[in-house]
Amino acid sequence: MTRPFNFSAGPAALPEEVLQQAASEMLDWHGSGMSVMEMSHRGKEFISIAQQAESDLREILAIPAHYKVLFMQGGAIAENAIVPMNLSSRGGHMDYVVTGSWSLKSQKEARKYGQVNVIASNEADGHTTVPDPATWTFSRNAAYVHVCSNETINGIELHELPDLKALGCDAPLVIDCSSHIASRPIDWSRVGLAYAGAQKNIGPAGLTLVIVREDLLGHALPITPSAFDYKIVADHESMYNTPPTYAIYLAGLVFQWIKRQREATTQGELQGLAAIEARNIAKADRLYGYLDASGFYSTHVAANARSRMNAPFFLPADALYEPFLVGAKAQGLLQLKGHKSVGGLRASIYNALPLAGVDALVAYLKEFAQRHG
Ligand SMILES: *Cc1c(COP(=O)(O)O)cnc(C)c1O
Repeated sequence: MTRPFNFSAGPAALPEEVLQQAASEMLDWHGSGMSVMEMSHRGKEFISIAQQAESDLREILAIPAHYKVLFMQGGAIAENAIVPMNLSSRGGHMDYVVTGSWSLKSQKEARKYGQVNVIASNEADGHTTVPDPATWTFSRNAAYVHVCSNETINGIELHELPDLKALGCDAPLVIDCSSHIASRPIDWSRVGLAYAGAQKNIGPAGLTLVIVREDLLGHALPITPSAFDYKIVADHESMYNTPPTYAIYLAGLVFQWIKRQREATTQGELQGLAAIEARNIAKADRLYGYLDASGFYSTHVAANARSRMNAPFFLPADALYEPFLVGAKAQGLLQLKGHKSVGGLRASIYNALPLAGVDALVAYLKEFAQRHG
C-alpha cells in the first residue's frame, strides 16, 4: 500500500525508507538485544550511533572543524532564549532582522536578556519580501546579528546568507534554519551559529541542532542553566544531561539517507546534499510554476523571496477552503491547511516529500481549479 503524501509544516514527513529501517531495528538494534530507546546514552552502542550521526552531518553540510555540533533539546523556541543567554555578553546590542513570525518571536524573547535592535523588518509589506542587506543598519559593536533563514509560516527564504563582513559588520551571524536545514548547503564563512529544531527536515521533534563556531563558546551569562550553556554542552559532547537518544538515532538514519541520494541532471549525476538541493529546486519550480500559471490560485511572497520548503497559497473564495481540504485528503494529500496567522493553504515540501508528491498535488490543484474556476 502506498502511503499518502504529507505536506505538514512540522512535525513533518520522514523518508519512508528511514521509517522502515527504524521499524526493522525497533526491537533489537544491530544484535544488541536492545531498542535504541532502551540503551544507556553512555554505552558503546549509543555512543557509536551519536558519533556516526555527527560525522555524517558534518560531511553532508561540510561543517568546518572549528565548529562544534551540539545535540540539544527545547526546540528553536528555547534557542530564542539560549542564544542571547550565551552570546549577549559579547557586545552591546543584539541585532535582529524581522522577516516573519519566527524572527518576530525570536527578537521578542531576546529582550529578556539585553538590548535588542531590529535593524530591518518587512512588517510593512506583511512579511512578503526580504529586506536588502545593504539597507540593514547594524548596531556598533553588536553581540550578534540574527536572521531566520527560512520563515516556515510566511514562506520566505533567504536564498543567500548576508556577508556581514562585506557589509562592514564584524558580529557573528546567527541563523534559525529549522525549516530548511539540510535542504541546501550552508556557507559557513558567513555563519557563526546555526540552530534548528529537527522536526521539519531531519527527524522527530525533541532534538535541536546547534552548530557553533568555537570562539563563541564560553560567554554565557551567569544565569544560564548549565544544560543550556553551549560550552558545558560542548565540553561534555552533548551528554551533560541525557540527550534525546531516539531522536538522534533517527536523525542519523536521515543523514545516511541524504548521503545515499542520487539525482541525474544536465550537469551529470549529483549525490548527497547536491542531489537533494537539485530535487528541491525542481519541486519548488514545479509547484510555483503551476500556481503562477493557474489564474486561479494566488501567492503573496515576492518571487525572489519564495521558500523552496514552505509555499503558502490562496483560493479565490473563502467558501472553497473546506471542499479543497476534504478533496485533498480523499486523494491522499494531507495537512495542506495554512497557518492560522496567514490563512489560506500551505504546502510544505521538505526533503522527504518526493517530486511525485508535488506532481500529485499539482494534478489535484488543476482538477480543483477546473471544477471551481
Ligand atoms: C518550527 C520552527 C520553530 C519552532 O520550533 P519549536 O521546536 O516549536 O521550538 C522556530 N523557528 C522556525 C523557523 C521554525 O520553523
